Amino acid sequence: METVVCTGIGVSDGVRMAKARVYHQPAVRQAAAETIAPEQADTEQARLRVAAEKAGQVVEQLLQKSQSVLQEEQIGILKGQKSMLTDPAFVPEMQRRIQKQNLSAEAAVRAVTEQFAELFRKMPDPYMQERAADVQDAGSRLLRILSGEDCTALSEIQEESILLAQDLSASDTVQLDRRYVLAFAMEQGGATSHTSIFARSMGIPAVVGISGLLQQAHDGDWVIVDGAAGKCILRPDEKMIAEYRKKMQEEAQRRELLTTYAGKPAALANGRRMIAAANIGSDTDAAFALQQGAEASGLLRTEQLFLSRGTAPTEEEQFTIYRRAAEAFSKVSPGSVVIRTLDIGGDKAVPYLSIPKEQNPFLGYRAIRLCLEQKELFLTQLRAILRASAFGKVQVMFPMISGVGELLAAKAMLQEAKAQLHDRGEAYDQQISVGVMIEIPSAALTAPALAKEVDFFSIGTNDLVQYTLAVDRGNEKVASLYDYFHPAVLQLIHLTLQAAQTRRIPVGMCGNMAGDPLAVPLLAGMGLQELSMAAGSIPQVKYVLSCVTAQECHALAEAALRCDSPQEVRKKLRDFAHTHRIQLPQ
Ligand code: PEP
Ligand code: MG
Repeated sequence: METVVCTGIGVSDGVRMAKARVYHQPAVRQAAAETIAPEQADTEQARLRVAAEKAGQVVEQLLQKSQSVLQEEQIGILKGQKSMLTDPAFVPEMQRRIQKQNLSAEAAVRAVTEQFAELFRKMPDPYMQERAADVQDAGSRLLRILSGEDCTALSEIQEESILLAQDLSASDTVQLDRRYVLAFAMEQGGATSHTSIFARSMGIPAVVGISGLLQQAHDGDWVIVDGAAGKCILRPDEKMIAEYRKKMQEEAQRRELLTTYAGKPAALANGRRMIAAANIGSDTDAAFALQQGAEASGLLRTEQLFLSRGTAPTEEEQFTIYRRAAEAFSKVSPGSVVIRTLDIGGDKAVPYLSIPKEQNPFLGYRAIRLCLEQKELFLTQLRAILRASAFGKVQVMFPMISGVGELLAAKAMLQEAKAQLHDRGEAYDQQISVGVMIEIPSAALTAPALAKEVDFFSIGTNDLVQYTLAVDRGNEKVASLYDYFHPAVLQLIHLTLQAAQTRRIPVGMCGNMAGDPLAVPLLAGMGLQELSMAAGSIPQVKYVLSCVTAQECHALAEAALRCDSPQEVRKKLRDFAHTHRIQLPQ
């Protein structure tokens, strides 16, 4: 049969070749009857209760397994399901419908699942929209249990394969044995779908959003998945096989070279120390980050703890997570953990905060703006962060600061939280470092004023680029304009560094630019001291740093700051990498 080259969205890099395993999700058996006689209601309610208990147990078992073998995102997905199964409205609403509408247990599950999923789908935030999948997953688990079906088919894959499917649910992915499933290609999904999150967190190459894939693929076909190129090649010919074999060999060599850098300190070739730090979403990311060679955490995005749940986490819940993160990083040097206060609202909507829909959420009621108004929410978080500071090198950072007024107001709240803890007799680091994110152009432009008030800056290029260039960071249509090598962005970074140098405060970067190997010599040359990134990028960044001296980087930065366009900057950086024999990913 002929070769077919399918294209989709590459969501996790890497090239793999193996035989296809085509997976069709089992069709959930329809209930024999939609409705029941009123006298059967008790029996149906009991069936549903037993199924819900069983579903809860299965998720719990998967979670137990997950704690040791899976990443934070994966655990988050399972926790999402668990929270649906224990949600005070979800299963009870099904029970109510059985009683009031004489629905069978299956019909009640279907109706309520659809109703809840629709609610999530209608939310403005893409992240919350994707959570509709948690609801459906919890619902289909209930249905499968009600029909007496075993949901463990994927755990049977016991030879090296590439998994092709319409999409995978969270309960599908937790059954997979990573030794055998080498890559994914899916018909559905986007960058934040479960499969994509899972693939990235496990380092499995993946391409999603390939329409018509399953119609053209057959079990046992040879398949190549090229994650970076977003390609899935069905039945490749000899020439393609040879070409990709070479590519895989090069990739394997590169990976091997890089792993040796994980355990080395982040330093330039002349010995100048830098800090390679990890961006984390919770304490459970710490183990992987440390394994990749993280020397600190330059950003703990606390909002993940607030999403996918019905109420805000309590002070105690937050304290436990922050404390664990602080303790985990205290094993390394410098081992600091920058805990960023809640960056939520706007695009990252949270139902229980009842934030009204906005025309321009990125310019709206979010992050520090929201926290300064919702004082109890903010104080609770600040107390939790402060208490964790008694257990490690915790630093607190405020996001979305646009000027000194907001910073002073936030600092006043921090003082209030300290006073509350003092009254309660709780321990905390009285000298806790306070920093701000520089992610709005006005913050970079007023950096001299901000620098008088804080102990450190952290540059958030993800937002800084979108606000400087007026390019929505999530809109594919304008993605080609979104460029951190734009001279305007470089100038703002430069201004920030100058202001910090005058006050002798350190500057880190926690936006995606910090993990880009092409950008690393430039950032070191501009004067950044800490680069904080996705943990998987750390070995590569340490490798790049080790190839160049401070002097060379400085000269590069001076030249880059004189460029007129992002293209010119990029060319300078590529030439520099070439001259210094830095191997960049293809
Ligand atoms: C940033 O804006 O660069 C950043 C690190 O924050 P986030 O991506 O969470 O907005
Ligand atoms: Mg940001």
